[in-house]
Amino acid sequence: MSTLPLRIGHGFDSHRLEAGEGLRLGGVWIACDWRLVAHSDGDALIHALCDALLGAIGGGDIGRLFPDTDERNKGLDSSVFLREVMRRVAAAGYAVGNADLTLIAQVPRMAPHAAAIVATLARELGVDPSAVNLKAKTNEGMGHLGRKEGVAAHAVVLLQRVSHAPSV
Ligand code: MG
Repeated sequence: MSTLPLRIGHGFDSHRLEAGEGLRLGGVWIACDWRLVAHSDGDALIHALCDALLGAIGGGDIGRLFPDTDERNKGLDSSVFLREVMRRVAAAGYAVGNADLTLIAQVPRMAPHAAAIVATLARELGVDPSAVNLKAKTNEGMGHLGRKEGVAAHAVVLLQRVSHAPSV
């Protein structure tokens, strides 16, 4: 793979919402009247982040790494995916510069959880919390996201080269 000093990646993910007793987004458990429907825990924010990181190293996508047909991934805490992806980022000789995340969710209300999510993701990415930005927005009541049928997330990451390790 190329040894560019900087590499950028983008990721997107979405999951269905239904009535439930809580959900996990950005690695943080949020007690609420909803749950995410997915093979794993449905943490769309982490899934988008994983795809951004994999995109930056030319590493494919999270669906290829962790197929939803694999029983081992059922109900899995998506932090496990993120740790494996970060292992690949390091093996490719890169470290995270910064990450910019946008979550689109009509519910639950994200503001009370934003700081915890930023702190959790910064720890997983090996960066200072100031290098992780989370923007949580509603969809202003429009469309399927506005009707609370699901949540969606976008992620952009910048990686910086730190070594000349062989590519994965
Ligand atoms: Mg997903």
